[in-house]
Amino acid sequence: MALSEFSLIERYFAGATPARPDVHLGIGDDCAILRVPEGYELAVSIDTLVQGVHFSPRAEPEGLGHKALAVNLSDLAATGAEPAWATLALTLPRAEESWLEAFVRGFAGLAREHGVALVGGDTTRGPLSITVQAHGFVPLGEGLRRSGARPGDLIYVTGSLGDAGLVLLARQGLYLGPGQLSALSGRLDRPSPRVAEGRALRRIASAAIDLSDGLGSDLGHVCRASRLGATIRVDSLPCSEAVAAYVAETGDWSLPLSAGDDYELCFTVPARRQGEVEALGAGFDCGFHWIGTIEAQAGVRCCLADGQLLEAPLGFDHFSGSD
Ligand code: ADP
Ligand code: MG
Repeated sequence: MALSEFSLIERYFAGATPARPDVHLGIGDDCAILRVPEGYELAVSIDTLVQGVHFSPRAEPEGLGHKALAVNLSDLAATGAEPAWATLALTLPRAEESWLEAFVRGFAGLAREHGVALVGGDTTRGPLSITVQAHGFVPLGEGLRRSGARPGDLIYVTGSLGDAGLVLLARQGLYLGPGQLSALSGRLDRPSPRVAEGRALRRIASAAIDLSDGLGSDLGHVCRASRLGATIRVDSLPCSEAVAAYVAETGDWSLPLSAGDDYELCFTVPARRQGEVEALGAGFDCGFHWIGTIEAQAGVRCCLADGQLLEAPLGFDHFSGSD
């Protein structure tokens, strides 16, 4: 490497993100020393992105820096945690300065938005792989989890579903109208973790998960953890114009139902709190959208507006909540 490991860390990572008073010792020592505020628990999540598996060799580094942090902040959001710190383990084939600069720009931009300090990490040489661990705070006992849904609870999602999947299809050759691909590509490359939304749901949602693998799969996890099932009304799934046009044209619901990478939240709420949750959702740009109901019968079912059950759309049946 042209740069030594230490000057690389010094130049690109130390000081890249906001300073926080709860970081007693940050980058440069053997360990970071961090303080969790009294009355809070530490929520921790880790995710690895591997070139060729999670992103294409053509992926631009600024987007990778953003996404590597975003997917972890999305996990904190699903727990209702407030992000605080991150660590970064980076394996690089070579120390290419322009790559590092752009990567850190993407990472630090999102970190600043959420007040996250990068407090340590590891830098090694090898095939490109990016691991980020994020740490956040949640008031004692208030962390959201997958297992809290009850029969009759209403199921909501934030934002819109299937955009990231549509961008992936377009990159594989599906034709999208002029301007549509560029308008939507941020949904795949630079997801916005729903951190404020997750925190606002802390004492309202009975269960929550973030949508990384697709609605069918991830709602299936909530159902299994809660030992219940669900019915989704497909006509009420929130979709962008482009995804709605794709569904109308092909009759294929798999984008909103089973494509991954949307990083929206899916959560359940007791029916008596519907008014409260909808008022709360009105305060967020992404909105909260009611898509179905939790039921005692295991499995995830999809129905049309008239109640008619849909045959399991391609790729969806594998993810149903039944064991
Ligand atoms: P050690 O050998 O004691 O594990 P390292 O030489 O790996 O320490 O790292 C030196 C310091 O730089 C440590 O504080 C470590 O947390 C930090 N560090 C290394 N790589 C990164 C990185 N990619 N991002 C942030 N901090 C890093
Ligand atoms: Mg050491």
